Amino acid sequence: MQVGTGKSILNGIAIGKLKIYKKKDTTISAAAVTDTEAEIQRFEKAQAKAIEQQTALYEKALAEAGEDIAEVFNIHAMMLEDDDFVDAIKEIINGQKKCAEYAVKTAGDNQAAVFAAMDDPYLQARSADVEDIAQCMLDILQGVDTDSLQGTEPSILVAEDLAPSETVRLDKSLLLGFITREGSSNSHTAILARSMNIPALIQCKEISPEWDGKMAVVDGYNACVYVDPTPDLLESLQKRQQEDRKKQALLQELKGKTNTTLDGTTINVFANIGGMGDVGAVQQNDGGGVGLFRTEFVYLNCKDYPTEDYQFEAYKQVVESLAPKKVVIRTCDIGADKTVDYMKLDKEDNPALGYRAIRICLTRKDFFKTQLRALLRASAFGNVSIMFPMIISLRELRDAKATLEECREELIAEGKAVGKVEVGTMIETPAAVLIADDLAEECDFFSIGTNDLTQYTCALDRQNAKLEPFFNPHHPAVLKAIQMTIEAGHRHGIWVGICGELGADPALTEVFLRMGVDELSVNAKSILPLRKIIRSVDLSK
Ligand code: PEP
Ligand code: MG
Repeated sequence: MQVGTGKSILNGIAIGKLKIYKKKDTTISAAAVTDTEAEIQRFEKAQAKAIEQQTALYEKALAEAGEDIAEVFNIHAMMLEDDDFVDAIKEIINGQKKCAEYAVKTAGDNQAAVFAAMDDPYLQARSADVEDIAQCMLDILQGVDTDSLQGTEPSILVAEDLAPSETVRLDKSLLLGFITREGSSNSHTAILARSMNIPALIQCKEISPEWDGKMAVVDGYNACVYVDPTPDLLESLQKRQQEDRKKQALLQELKGKTNTTLDGTTINVFANIGGMGDVGAVQQNDGGGVGLFRTEFVYLNCKDYPTEDYQFEAYKQVVESLAPKKVVIRTCDIGADKTVDYMKLDKEDNPALGYRAIRICLTRKDFFKTQLRALLRASAFGNVSIMFPMIISLRELRDAKATLEECREELIAEGKAVGKVEVGTMIETPAAVLIADDLAEECDFFSIGTNDLTQYTCALDRQNAKLEPFFNPHHPAVLKAIQMTIEAGHRHGIWVGICGELGADPALTEVFLRMGVDELSVNAKSILPLRKIIRSVDLSK
């Protein structure tokens, strides 16, 4: 038995024969051509066919993985018509007297290199998209039948890397899983694999041509692949796979059903996300909306302050693809465990009690306003709520709201569209719990951040592993704080949700329902298991 390790894309098991997904060697002639007009025509034909293919892939991805993922192929179709790209190809054919293949490959490589060198991570990621569309045109020009590469038997594909269009094109009824040597967990290919529920391992350096045709198990739980597994191991992983399937089948039956208790109380079960990459999982798991969009990831993914336009795109994509579902977006919660170099934050003795979240935003108004303007602009594309983290005083809530209003007025004066937004307070400090009545009078909802609320209520640094033995997630003080918050919110007619990890704890679902919680926002995978519990509770008993 051989074991390969890598990064897992999905917690799941795939069992089957390995198939090396060979890309045909595409030798491209650099010799001069005489009939450049004929080459231009070959290119234009390939370009038209590639656009057709991307449109078909859009439809396929839409059906298999959802709108957000499918959008990649719309972008590809647009890139294929991009003037700079097309002009560069024609220039190589006419100016350098090269064949269409050479021109497409050279212009594609050049443009991909330009994108790869950009600072903006969104534009950097476009490099892979350019390579993808150039390869599609090359396959067409060279008559490569990519559909035949997968073979006819169900298998686990092994490849150096897979482009998004290759992944969508694969026949899913024959695709048990895949393993690649390259790839990143945020690539479109990885996102696709997750949203299509395909166990996959990336960055597996042990991949070898000798694996072709061998029996293997991709173990997504342990981020490894067993090639020629021992009979005992195979048997135990087969069992695990069957259990997974049974659980999945049961949970799938809950899709489309309401989160209603036996006695008729319905609550919202929303998802926590870090960005667009998680939206597929929200849709796959039938999330009613997003209860916590942690926008720090937008900042953490950048090498410098993300601009208003960059942020606008990041928020708009999420909001638009989930509309009309509610998306609760938390303003930047940088600081403590989440830092970025470009903000040049000082090292602190007590970072969890330090300069973080709303404290940074309220003292660096331009920084805050950039985000608020982006959020307000995105709100024109769907159903947006905005909430502020780490609030400890009414003054902070008022300041944050006043800055939001200032941004709204500015945008309206500039003629930019803004939507109507609910404004909420995160309750994650004991101070906020104790003044919850005052806060509730001046906002539209509360969202309880139990991770920080536990940290601050119990004075237990959530980053300190040594404190594990002292940590009691069901500490009565934390549960009491949650109850007080829900009661205060309801006294003032606002809804109250829980977005910390405790919201997904099945042992507490009934407790929270009895407290009267209106929303639980959890990781997408917990949505259907929670729905199952909610539907079995009878609050009248
Ligand atoms: C929390 O504190 O519970 C919360 C949801 O926010 P974060 O975990 O991002 O601090
Ligand atoms: Mg928090």
